[in-house]
Amino acid sequence: MQDLRKLLSGPEWLVEENNFDIQRINFYETIFTVGNGYLGTRGSLEEGHAAALQGTYLNGVYDHHQSFVVDLVNAPDWLDLSIYIDGEKLSIQTSEILNFERILDMKNGMLFRETRFKDSQGRITKYQSIRFAHMSHVHLMDTYVSVTAENYSAALTIEGAINANVVNLDVEPVFKRKTKFDPDVKWHKWAKSVHLDHVSGSLTDEGVYLEVKTKDRPHHLGYASSLTTNKKGATSSKKIDHKYAGQSLTIDIEKGETIAFEKQVAIFTSRDVSKTDVKSSAVSLLSENSHHSFQSRFTSHQAAWDAKWNACEVKIEGDKAANHALKFNTYHLLITASPTDFHANIGAKSLSGEGYKGHVFWDTEIFMLPFYVFTQPETAKALMMYRYNTKEGARDYAKEGNHEGIRYSWESADTGHEVTPPWTSDGLIRIWTGERELHITSAVVFGLIYYYETTGDKDFLTDYAAEILFETARFWDSRLEYNNTLNRYELTGVEGPDEFHELVNNSVYTNALTKWNLEKSAEYYAILKASNPSKLKVLMNKINLQESEINSWFEKASKVYIPFDPDKSLIEEFEGYFNLKDVPITEWDENDMPIYPEGYHHDNCQETTLLKQPDVLMLTYILPSMFSDEVKKANYNYYEPRTMHKSSLSPCIHTIMGIEVGNYEKALQYFERSVYVDLVDNQGNTNDGMHIASAGGSWQAVVSGFGGMRLKGGKLTFKPWLPPNWTSISFKLKWQGDVVHVTLNHNEFLFLWETKKSGQLDIEVKDKPVALNENQETKVTL
Ligand code: BGC
Ligand code: BGC
Repeated sequence: MQDLRKLLSGPEWLVEENNFDIQRINFYETIFTVGNGYLGTRGSLEEGHAAALQGTYLNGVYDHHQSFVVDLVNAPDWLDLSIYIDGEKLSIQTSEILNFERILDMKNGMLFRETRFKDSQGRITKYQSIRFAHMSHVHLMDTYVSVTAENYSAALTIEGAINANVVNLDVEPVFKRKTKFDPDVKWHKWAKSVHLDHVSGSLTDEGVYLEVKTKDRPHHLGYASSLTTNKKGATSSKKIDHKYAGQSLTIDIEKGETIAFEKQVAIFTSRDVSKTDVKSSAVSLLSENSHHSFQSRFTSHQAAWDAKWNACEVKIEGDKAANHALKFNTYHLLITASPTDFHANIGAKSLSGEGYKGHVFWDTEIFMLPFYVFTQPETAKALMMYRYNTKEGARDYAKEGNHEGIRYSWESADTGHEVTPPWTSDGLIRIWTGERELHITSAVVFGLIYYYETTGDKDFLTDYAAEILFETARFWDSRLEYNNTLNRYELTGVEGPDEFHELVNNSVYTNALTKWNLEKSAEYYAILKASNPSKLKVLMNKINLQESEINSWFEKASKVYIPFDPDKSLIEEFEGYFNLKDVPITEWDENDMPIYPEGYHHDNCQETTLLKQPDVLMLTYILPSMFSDEVKKANYNYYEPRTMHKSSLSPCIHTIMGIEVGNYEKALQYFERSVYVDLVDNQGNTNDGMHIASAGGSWQAVVSGFGGMRLKGGKLTFKPWLPPNWTSISFKLKWQGDVVHVTLNHNEFLFLWETKKSGQLDIEVKDKPVALNENQETKVTL
């Protein structure tokens, strides 16, 4: 392959960087992450440079050791690769850069690079590379390089390595936003958590092998690597130096000549195979692959990507930029979740950075799960299985607080135990979210039911979900406090999603979801009793569940306090919220994001009605039948102007609810804030990793916002609105094992229920029943 540029897809699939700017490099590292659900690798330059924030994260590989809280481990770097011309390294820092270009090709899940270097001798070298994490053989990583000597002949050396001299950033930068750093000190000041110990390094027939293990957790990580060239006559040498295993090839390059090289890496861990098989698995996979051409490997990778894109096709016609940004968000959702790993989930920054230390939040169920459920239910199932498989950690958490059942952790990693840092990394500010954001428990239940209702996966319901439904109900049953005077159940000392108000009583979001959780648990108990009494009995014996407990769930659910002002139709975010000081937002930044009113910041907004992110609007979205249209509208109009959107989770909900209440102008404005969040970096911290919940939220903004899709009573319902300058949107929804194709333009909806079943599928459009006939197009005029 002479010109790697020829592999690139059409412009709608590309994200480009056109010059090297050291201040922007960490941003692009996040944006240009490649991955396949098994791992994610940030888009760092192969040869390294000061200020790089290189990172490879293997899904589910966590460790604690020196770090403040359990970390998603920065695993050995498989990218490491340098070129030397007569011994002089081509480097972004010491060579003159004649041009620099990188392109993420989202269709093919690969990163392309072209750099022309002029070295100290005036020699000009054109360097091209592509890299990808193989989508169908997820243990294989590939870097293909093409080097052209434009104006010289010399000896060229290429050195490729597996480098385990990597660290996690332990302490977050304490500098002011937008501080310009000296590249030499930028990360090294606080990059200090070492998680990896050397196990072994060896030479193999194909190249080199390196194995390391995590310090506290029992994971062994093995990487086999090979470096090859299409030109004969190269001399090869290999070097193992503790946590570094390298291989180099030296060859003559003639003026005008282009030489191709390929570095392949196979990765296995003791999470995939037994510890003793890690090495043989990696070495033999690489060896098998050496018999296939690059072209055939690339073709199977492409085919796997085509299948992924085909499953989640979503299109906006009439707004190219938004369509492109939506693809970009989808790309990142596709590279971060695994359909086969039942013990890993999605960290708040996906596998693209170390922000939030790879911890899993409610982001998964509330923001991302709908995307996976409707496009790749196997992946959605794997995400839910993680909750099942980490339930013992959640059980311990309930016990710690002297409660029954299971209580999910606000932040969880590999065991389900609470891993929220109790303090900010400078030790100055106490973080209470772990103790107080109880609503994560009902979010998990929300995810289970959402998965079940859309897929109809009965085995999942009986074998896994039911246990969680019952055990979470037990938790709420023991956690709710009875207020004797007012004859109601309350939750005091909690924190809702709006983290500006850290210690409140009766957070309406939390209470309403608790009530819902109890009701659903009781409802599903009745469903199972009728449909599968024998399995129910086995489960009841297993967890020692008594019928009397179900009565208690009903009873308590009916008396959970929901703060609401009927005169104004306003839902009160928590008890006493309406008595707080009202401070208006009057200024917005260049990205159209609100600026704190003068004198206010993250830590003193608690005195005011300002919100970090929506609580009440969130509630009206996820429990759509609980409130009337009038109540939803009144609450949107009240809370929206008070919301600072200091979480990227906020704008997508304002799009969806803006459309529901008819505030279209706002809805569109919020859609832009949501869909471009990382491409324009409007939260200012894309360096730390993708805002992957917002990516899932942007998908929901299209499907549930513009498409107006809601699940109501186990049915698909739609209430659409399209921006005037858009022509149409289209998407596919996997539904109970079938696919519903949806296209919406300004005049009509087109549905196609693709199924092997016979009969009708009942849905609703604008509150009216519509029946879809099997495999026939149904038009609904709007
Ligand atoms: C987040 C919390 C989180 C805490 C510690 C804060 O920035 O808003 O949800 O628990 O960091 O990770
Ligand atoms: C938000 C949380 C969210 C977390 C991780 C925080 O800033 O307040 O709701 O779960 O980020 O994305």
